Amino acid sequence: MIENVVEFFKNLPPKQCVTCGETIEEQHECYQTKCPTCSE
Ligand SMILES: [Zn+2]
Repeated sequence: MIENVVEFFKNLPPKQCVTCGETIEEQHECYQTKCPTCSE
């Protein structure tokens, strides 16, 4: 079961901005749903 969870996270698509669809780089502290451009 644990292996399946690891595979699940490995296969997750990159986060995308909910506004423009731009790929968002992982931020270790913030969980953003918008890219920096749309957040401002
Ligand atoms: Zn955006």
